[in-house]
Order: sequence, then structure tokens, then C-alpha cells
Amino acid sequence: MHVENVSIASIAKDIPTPFYCYSYSAIKENYLAYKRTFSQQDTLICYAVKANANQAILKSLANLGAGADVVSEGEIRRALQAGIPANKIVFSGVAKTRDEIAYALVHNILQFNVESEPELALISEIASAQNKVAGISIRINPNVCANTHAKITTGKSENKFGIPIAKAQSVYQYAASLPGIKVQGVDVHIGSQLTDLEPYKQAFSKVAEFVAVLRSDGHNISIIDIGGGLGIDYHENETPPNKEEYAQIAQELLGHLGCKIIVEPGRSILGNAGILVSSVVYIKKGEARQFLIIDAGMNDLIRPSMYDAYHQIKPVEHTTNTSTFYDVVGPVCETGDTFTKQRELPTAQAGDLIAILSCGAYGSVMSSTYNTRLSAPEIMVKENQYSVIKSRPSYEEVIEQDIIPHWL
Ligand SMILES: *Cc1c(COP(=O)(O)O)cnc(C)c1O
Repeated sequence: MHVENVSIASIAKDIPTPFYCYSYSAIKENYLAYKRTFSQQDTLICYAVKANANQAILKSLANLGAGADVVSEGEIRRALQAGIPANKIVFSGVAKTRDEIAYALVHNILQFNVESEPELALISEIASAQNKVAGISIRINPNVCANTHAKITTGKSENKFGIPIAKAQSVYQYAASLPGIKVQGVDVHIGSQLTDLEPYKQAFSKVAEFVAVLRSDGHNISIIDIGGGLGIDYHENETPPNKEEYAQIAQELLGHLGCKIIVEPGRSILGNAGILVSSVVYIKKGEARQFLIIDAGMNDLIRPSMYDAYHQIKPVEHTTNTSTFYDVVGPVCETGDTFTKQRELPTAQAGDLIAILSCGAYGSVMSSTYNTRLSAPEIMVKENQYSVIKSRPSYEEVIEQDIIPHWL
């Protein structure tokens, strides 16, 4: 198995498993596919930094002209440091703090995607104190069902995100009355890993209607932020909704409004550009099951235990024609540390390398050091070269973060 022209096995000779490995060209191609498909419209592609926030990845995207969708001061800092200009940064999230808002204003980001009235009041107050006016869109909650996992659905009334359209009209009036606020757009993001375009159609139609209402109320709406969430194929032989159709829907339903479109893709740029490489530690024959015990755990990749996510698992080197049904599990002392159950895989041996596919997004960023396991390093491959883009810390560095009180 190769990533671009580099064999995984050759990387594993230098870098102990587990490690994440990304293809630069896949990231670039996924980004450029958005550029191409949205080329009919004035569009800014703001990569959702939370999907994978590594500096090398942000730098790759910055060089291609991408903006950033961020959800914390830390992500603003990461985006700026990687060379994404502030005027291409939009700030999302329900809990922006005073310090985070002040930081974003000092750096003159493009827009705040506002989630509540108290947030509007606070942004206005802080902007006024800085003698600035903050550009905002209000995130509306269109109450559509995204048909995705409940934990990553965000556009239903019962979710914490956005403001229902029925109420949003008066919130826009309130926003317009605040001295530190400039109303400039409308924002919507209905969830992640959408494998069906219908929810987008419903959401964009509602946004289009609402923009007309806002304009008749006298608001100057020049930006529509359509969020992210386009799904990828985690399964073999799956056909995810394609970017062309997605862009076409945006064009059809929103194009006539003459607004700048902001898109915030995360998973659909990084997801299929990365894998997690791991080694088989033991094969354990239980009474009812065979366990393939690997050296990557839920602390490295939490998606299967948190969202019941499916990831393809492949041997890095094909050595057998026989197959076995395995439960693939990690080292963490929790039964939830299971990547898959009863999956038919090529029969494996201790020491074999395996790759867990589609791990570029929401993999490394969601990792922890639970069980005092060292975070997995990240590798980026470009053509026939590779570089470590995040190193594995040492045990000393991890343990040194703890402080024993002087009175102990
Ligand atoms: C998570 C998130 C995104 C990106 O979602 P993907 O599914 O990774 O494309 C975009 N916008 C907002 C507001 C988000 O919270």
C-alpha cells in the first residue's frame, strides 16, 4: 500500500506505529474540486479547521488560497500562523468568550457567525470599545433533518445551534440597532457527513426566502454562508454526494440573490486524504470471537466508539488469501475501544501492519493521551517524499506537564 509514491511499510520502518499519514495531493485535489465546482459564483472556501488543524495542512490550503472557518481563539491563531489572512476567516461556535471575540476583532476577521442575542450584545460591546464594527451573519436553524448521526446533526430545533427562522427576523432588527455590529449575511450549517443532498435543498430554500425577508426589512445582505457537512465515502463502493451537484444546488437556490457564497468544508477536504497506520500486537482467540488487537486505540481515533463510525480496514501488505472474522480492538482499557466487530478481513499475524482508512478528518484532532498513551505522530506525503508534520511527544514531556503541589 502506498500514499502517493511512498510505501507505507517504508515509513513504518522509520516511524513506530500508530501514526497518521496524509496525502498532500489528495488534500489539494479536494480543495481544488470545490474551487472548480463553485467557480460560477463569487465564492470563498473557508476550510473548517476543526477537521484537522495541523499547521502543515493549513499552510497547504493557505497556499492554494483557502480561507478558514474557526471555532476558537486557538484555531484563529493556527489559521493566522499558517498564513490564512484574517479577511478570509469566519468565526463560528455557540460559546465565543469575551477574550476570543476581542482577539478576533483585534485581527479584523471577515465575519462572526452569531448564534445568540447575548453573543450579539457582547460582540457589539467589545467592538465599540475597540472603535470597530464587527461584520456578522446570524446562524439560522432551519429545522431540517440532515439524516446523519444524531451527534453531528446541528440543524434541528432541539440542537443548541443557530436561531430559528421565525425568531431570527427580530434578532436581525436587534443586531442592526447595535452600534458595534454590521449585519452582512446569513449563515446556516445543518450537520456533518451528509450523504443526501435533499436536506441542503430544504435548508438553502429556506435561506433564500429569508434573505428576501431581510432585504425587505432594509438589511444589506451580501454574504450567504452555507456551512459545510458534505459527506464522504467511508464504505467501499459507496457513492457520496458529489461536489458538482452540491454546488449546483447552491447556484440554483441562492445564485439569483447575488451574494458572495461562503462554503465551510472540513471532512470532504481531509477525510479521505488520510489514514491511520497501526500494527497488530496480538491475535487473541476468545470463546466467541477472535480479536485483532492493534496498537492504535480509541484515544487515537474516537470516531468508531463515539459515532459508531465505519472505517475500512486494510492490510498494508497482502500476505494471505485466507480471511477471518475479527473484532478489531485497541489497547485502551474500555470495551468501547473497538474499531469494528465481526469484520471479515485477511487473516493476520502479530506484527502485521494495517491501515484504517478515511481518517484525515476528525481523527488526530480528536485524539487524547488517555491511558497515558503518546499522541500518534502525523506524516504528510507529497509525491516521493514524506515529512513528519507532528512529532510524537516523549513520555517525559507528557508526565512533566503534571505539577506536584509544594505542600505534598
Ligand atoms: C464542523 C463544521 C463545519 C465542517 O463540517 P464538515 O462536516 O467537516 O464539512 C463547517 N461549519 C461549521 C459551523 C461546523 O461546525
